[in-house]
Amino acid sequence: MKKTRIFMLLMSFTVLGNIYAQKEDALSPEEKAKREKNIQAGNPFKKFGYKPKIATLSKGKYLELHDLDSIVPIGSVMYNVNTQKIVSFKQIDTLGLSEATLEPEVISRWFSPDPLAEEFPDKSPYNFVNNNPIRFVDPTGLAPEDIIIHFTDADGNKQTHTYQFGQEYKGDNAFVKDVYTALNHIVNNGADETGVIKGLATDSSKNVNLFEDTPENNIEHGKLNRNSYFKREGQNTGKPEVIWDSKGGTKFTNIKGFISWISGNGYSEDGIVSPSEVLLHELGHAESHLKDAKQHYKDSKTNFGIYNTREEHDVITTIENPASKKLGNVQRQGHYGFFIKVKSPTSTTPVKK
Ligand SMILES: [Zn+2]
Repeated sequence: MKKTRIFMLLMSFTVLGNIYAQKEDALSPEEKAKREKNIQAGNPFKKFGYKPKIATLSKGKYLELHDLDSIVPIGSVMYNVNTQKIVSFKQIDTLGLSEATLEPEVISRWFSPDPLAEEFPDKSPYNFVNNNPIRFVDPTGLAPEDIIIHFTDADGNKQTHTYQFGQEYKGDNAFVKDVYTALNHIVNNGADETGVIKGLATDSSKNVNLFEDTPENNIEHGKLNRNSYFKREGQNTGKPEVIWDSKGGTKFTNIKGFISWISGNGYSEDGIVSPSEVLLHELGHAESHLKDAKQHYKDSKTNFGIYNTREEHDVITTIENPASKKLGNVQRQGHYGFFIKVKSPTSTTPVKK
């Protein structure tokens, strides 16, 4: 009991001034009596018949009794109620504070480099939202959410460039320039009808890495003798990657259904899918992966006749074909065709050998 008394005394001396300054709340007589009883439960002068003003945190709403520890925090110090001496200063727990507390010692400071720093060699490991808080948000602390173009600069260094939706590229890298030409060709002709490019470039939850189709990149990504393709890493996780040949089109021959093909009169309507449509196609896979990785993986394993898989069927019929139509190109009616070099990222004219 003695400990409690001392504590309450100290409390009353230190906080008394505040209490006088506060306006008395309008309380019912019952509530007032109950609160007074709670306050007086800790009155150290009870046996002398004296009722001092005692400050409590809840203004007497709850019965407040201090625990029986000998060392208690009072203000900024730790006080030993037995020896009646200050034993230490209170330690401020900086880890428990957040940006929201606006403590000057802890705000705006990183404690460690970005765990994903290795993926962005051209960015400081301590940077936040690519040093561009107006354009980017970082709700999850993961990688930037964009179409990230990986390229090798004139000095042979690996670099990244983020595709800026609706803008022109002003740099001098040929691959990055081709990506802009291809994507802007689709967008500016109204052929991004399902919003795949816009979504990937501006959605705050989607991110895809785009690499040039080179022997070096193909070896690094574990594929040989491939041209443009989409690569997913793992069933449910991973970063979607697209490898793209900016002069690589797909030459195809539409087959008018299996039966007529078998009967021998089915070949007709030759066409070429331009590299820009190929890129849109691969980004369509990336988008499908980002939307629902599990479903994407399942669809990629589901046979779908002339389209090979359901995933290919969905990408070709809902993303590639509408774009081809809008661009005035022949629509592919299946997942087939072979690689052909064309004149430019937007061209359907083969390079003559
Ligand atoms: Zn595909």
